[in-house]
Amino acid sequence: MGLSEIKDRMRKAETDAGRAPGCVTLIAVSKVQPDARVEAVLTQGQRCFGENRVQEAAGKWPGFRERFDGIDLHLIGPLQTNKTRQAFDLFQAIHSVDRPKLARTIARLAQEVGHCPDLFLQVNTGEEDQKAGVLPGDIDSFVAECRALDLPVKGLMCIPPVDEEPSLHFALLAKMAARNGISGLSMGMSGDFERAIALGATHIRVGSAIFGEREHG
Ligand SMILES: *Cc1c(COP(=O)(O)O)cnc(C)c1O
Repeated sequence: MGLSEIKDRMRKAETDAGRAPGCVTLIAVSKVQPDARVEAVLTQGQRCFGENRVQEAAGKWPGFRERFDGIDLHLIGPLQTNKTRQAFDLFQAIHSVDRPKLARTIARLAQEVGHCPDLFLQVNTGEEDQKAGVLPGDIDSFVAECRALDLPVKGLMCIPPVDEEPSLHFALLAKMAARNGISGLSMGMSGDFERAIALGATHIRVGSAIFGEREHG
């Protein structure tokens, strides 16, 4: 596939849904991709990327930042509290805020350094044991807790169960966001981003459809 085909499909999905062309942000998920592939996508003009590990991003992105302006990096994987400071240095957005302790750590650090990445609260919409995220029943109180800490809550994020129709989860996430007055929705990946756009995604996270299959991870 590739970047330009994904963008064409995004425009079509936006238009089909009656949404403004270009309103959805594409996060190109570059985790475990060889540098040459990432560089090719940077050269085509893409600037917004997603990584799921702080350590991997720290090894990879400072070098690209020296050579390409305007890189917008999003953390889409789990964040340990002891890596929060490093995450602040690397990322403009964190999509995996999934527990009060992490929210409090982020709030303390934001106070200290005077800025904070955009935050998305991760919801475990499928209530899967192995998956991160707050349970659907806990999201309203978690939003309130984050707001009480003055955190910049930009959106909600979900990763639907692999064996279920993702649209149900996208619709559920959209409903939780709407009732909490939250405008951002980080949802949709290579296999289902058009359905996510139809249901209001503002940020889609697409990896393999842009870069090709990952060798591992
Ligand atoms: C890897 C990953 C993606 C991208 O998945 P693809 O199927 O390759 O598009 C999206 N979101 C998260 C949280 C991921 O870890």
